[in-house]
Amino acid sequence: MYDKNNVFAKMIRGEIPTTKVCENEYAFSFYDINPMFSTHVLVIPKGEYKNILDFTKNATPAEIAGFWQCFADTADKLGLECEFNCVANSGANAPFIKQSVFHFHLHLVAGERKPAFHEQLAAEFK
Ligand code: AMP
Repeated sequence: MYDKNNVFAKMIRGEIPTTKVCENEYAFSFYDINPMFSTHVLVIPKGEYKNILDFTKNATPAEIAGFWQCFADTADKLGLECEFNCVANSGANAPFIKQSVFHFHLHLVAGERKPAFHEQLAAEFK
């Protein structure tokens, strides 16, 4: 079940502010509020999908194409070519990093690790 009150749904509705990097009809990207790396951007679809599998199985071809176009435009705008990571956490009990916002998002990270990265890893694996 998709929770319409999650923080990204509120961003999509314009109820809370965000710093957008790129946007198209189906998706947008914005800076993570708690960056783990010197570059830490999230890419989200505008449609209501709770995780990567929900999006992959249920989004329309236009939504999927729009999402990946936004990803590519974001990488271009940030000057990323090959030195980065993309991460999609799925589920409150995911084995590596847990999902905390239940609207599908891709983390796009690059550059230097910030202290928050080490703090989160320590918290996840304590
Ligand atoms: P995840 O653990 O994969 O669900 O990651 C959710 C991400 O959303 C975290 O990295 C948070 O820092 C980020 N986040 C939560 N609220 C906001 C917000 N208002 N603006 C930008 N990023 C946010």
